[in-house]
Amino acid sequence: MFDHVFRPGAIGGLVLPHRVVMGAMHLNLEALDDGGRALAAFYAERAGEDAGLIVTGGTAVSPAGAGGPGYGMAGDAGHRAALARAVRAVHEAGGRIALQLFHAGRYALPGAPGTDGGAPFAPSPVYSAFSRSTPRELTEEQILDTVADFGRGAAVARELGFDAVEVMGSEGYLINQFTAPATNRRDDGWGGDAGRRRRFPVEVARAVRAAAGDGFPVLFRMSGADLVEDGTPPEETAALAVALAEAGVDALAVGVGWHESPVPTVQAQVPAGTWAVYAKEVKAALRAAGHGDLPVIASNRFNRLGQADEVLATGEVDFVAMARPFLADPAIVTKSRAGRADAVNLCIACNEACIDRSFGTEPVSCLVNPRAGHESEFPLLDVVERPGRYAVIGAGVAGLEAARTLAGLGRHVEVYEAAQEPGGQFRMAAKVPGKAEFGDTIRHHERELRELGVDLRLGHRIGHRDLPMLRALDGVVLATGVLAHRPMLPGLALPHVLDYQQAFADPDALGPRVAVIGGGGIAVDLAHLLTADPDVKAEPEEFLAAHAVTGAVAAGGGAGGVGAGGGTALAERPGALGRTPRRVTLMRRGRRVGAGIGPSTRWVVMRELRAAGVELLTGVGYEEITREGVLVREAEGGLRLVEADHVVLASGQEPELDVAVTLGRAGVPFETAGGAAGTERLNAVRATAEGLRAAHRI
Ligand code: SF4
Repeated sequence: MFDHVFRPGAIGGLVLPHRVVMGAMHLNLEALDDGGRALAAFYAERAGEDAGLIVTGGTAVSPAGAGGPGYGMAGDAGHRAALARAVRAVHEAGGRIALQLFHAGRYALPGAPGTDGGAPFAPSPVYSAFSRSTPRELTEEQILDTVADFGRGAAVARELGFDAVEVMGSEGYLINQFTAPATNRRDDGWGGDAGRRRRFPVEVARAVRAAAGDGFPVLFRMSGADLVEDGTPPEETAALAVALAEAGVDALAVGVGWHESPVPTVQAQVPAGTWAVYAKEVKAALRAAGHGDLPVIASNRFNRLGQADEVLATGEVDFVAMARPFLADPAIVTKSRAGRADAVNLCIACNEACIDRSFGTEPVSCLVNPRAGHESEFPLLDVVERPGRYAVIGAGVAGLEAARTLAGLGRHVEVYEAAQEPGGQFRMAAKVPGKAEFGDTIRHHERELRELGVDLRLGHRIGHRDLPMLRALDGVVLATGVLAHRPMLPGLALPHVLDYQQAFADPDALGPRVAVIGGGGIAVDLAHLLTADPDVKAEPEEFLAAHAVTGAVAAGGGAGGVGAGGGTALAERPGALGRTPRRVTLMRRGRRVGAGIGPSTRWVVMRELRAAGVELLTGVGYEEITREGVLVREAEGGLRLVEADHVVLASGQEPELDVAVTLGRAGVPFETAGGAAGTERLNAVRATAEGLRAAHRI
C-alpha cells in the first residue's frame, strides 16, 4: 500500500526514507522563553513517527524579516539555542530537520521586531491588505544586506547541526514580492523586467548555496502561482525554476497563493490535491531545460497519504509536503505504513487552531489534536492500567477528547451520551458543504475509544436513577454541551419556529424561504447548508473553474494563474458555486456576520454565501415572529417583515447543566469541558482543549 510514498528518495546527498516531507509551519513556539523545550518536544514526537524530513517554521534571517513577535530569528542567541535543542531532539528520535530561512517583507505584522514599530520593508511601497501597512522600499544596500542575511542564515543552520535548509520564496513573502509585478515596481537592477525581477531569488539561492557549502542540501520553496492580480507571470515562474536549478539548489518545493489571494488555497472548501498541477508544471519546465533530475515537492491541500501516493504515481513530482496533517496526527506516516491509514486523525482544514493562530502570538495547536504544541506539557505515556473508574458525560468533541485522553492515561472510562450518536454539534458541522471530513474526526475518536476499551453508552441521559453508579466513580468530566438559546420574543411558540439543532437535523424539511435569527458561525454554517447546490462536485477541476483559476504555469493564463477579474468577481458570477431556489436571510443585532469565524476562513464562506444569494441583515432589532416571518427594526429605524416559511433560532447557546446538579448530589468530583464550562467564546478548539485538560486534572 502507498508504494509510491514508501520509496526512499534523496534531496542532494540527504537520503530520505519515503516521499513525504513535513512542511513548514510557524508555531509561535519559536520565541518562547522556555529554552526550546516545547519546540523540541513538538518536532521530536513527529521525528519519532518517521516524518521523513521536517522543515521548521520560518526563521527570520534578520529582525526585519520576522513575520511577527513570535518568530524565531537566526541572529538571536536564545532562538539559536532553542533551535539547537530541537535539532538534537530530532536526531535522537531518528529524524532529519531542515531550517527554513524566511523574510516576511511587507507581510511583517504589527509588533514584528526589526520594524521599530514602523512599516515593514519590501521591494516597493505597495499597500498590503494582510499586514494593513504600506511598506518602506528597500534600498540597493538593504537588498544586498538581505541577500547576505540569507547566506548567514544557511551558515547558522549548518553550525547548529541542521540537515538542510529551505529558502522561503513563495506565499507572497519577500522573495515572492520581488518576482511579482504587483509588488515589484522598481526600475533598477532588481526590477523592471523579468530578468531583474528574478534577480533577487537567484542571488539569494546563490548566497545560500555558497554559505551552505558543498553537500549541504538547499531546498527552495518557490511560488507555482501567486493567484493575485499582476502576480508572477506563468512564463516567469517557469524561467525562475530553471534559474534556481542553475543556481545550485537541490530541490524545489512549490507553494501556491498569497495571503491576499482572492482564491482559497488551504481552506476546507479546496478539494485535496488541487494545487499539484503547479508542481507538475514546474517539473515539466525543469525537464524541458535539462534539469529533470532536480526533485520537485508538491504541497498544499493533501491530508491523506493516499492522495500523496496518487500524485507521486504520476511521476510528475518527486515528493509531497504535508504540514497540518502532522499537527492533527504526528503518526500519520507510521500508521499508514502499518496498513492503518484509516486510524489516522485527519486534518480537517479548519485552520482554527493553526493558521489563524499563527497570525497572532498564541501557540499553534490543533482542533482535532489539542496536544499539538503542548507535547512537553502532556508527554505521551505508555498505556498501562491505572486505578480509578471515570465517566465522561457527553460525547461531543470535548467529551470524546476527554475520554480518549483519560483512557490513554490508563483509566477505566465510561462515556454517557444522551443522543443516539456521538459527535454533538460537530455532527451538524459535518453536513455543511466542504466540512464532510468533520465526520471523520468523530469516526476516528469513536474508533480510538473502542481500541482503548472505553465503554461508550449512547442514548443514555444521566439522571437521578444513575446516582448509585455516579457515587461509585472516582471522577467525571462533564461535557454535556449546549442548548440553543431562546430569545424572549413574541411568536416564539409558533409552529414554524425551530432551533438550529432541529434545522440541522432535517434541513430538507425547511421551506423555500428561511429567516435565521443570528449571524454567528452556526448561522453561517446553516445558511451554507440550506443554499448549497448538491450537484457541485468537490473536484479540483470544478473548483479551479469556479474560481476562474487557470490550470497551468506555462499556459499563459493571464495574471499569475487567476483569470480576468480574479476571485473577487465570484459574487458576480451567478452559478459559479451553485445556487438553490431557497431564499435565506441571516439577521444579526451586531454589525459583523460570522464574526467568530477565523480570519483565514471567514472571507471564503462569506463570499460563498453572497454568491448563493443569502441576504445578510445586520444591526437589526427583533420585534416579533409572526406567521408570515420575522418583523425587524432595521438599522435605519424602519420596520420590515422578513417573510419566511420557517424561522430558525441561532442566536446563541446556553450550557446544558442539569447533570451538574445530579453530580453535586452524588458528591463525585467533576471537571467541566466545552459548553458545560461556559458559552463565552465557545468553539470546537476551546472545547477539545478543555477536554484534554479536564482529563488530566480530574
Ligand atoms: Fe488541521 Fe484544523 Fe488541526 Fe489546523 S487545527 S491542523 S486545520 S484540523
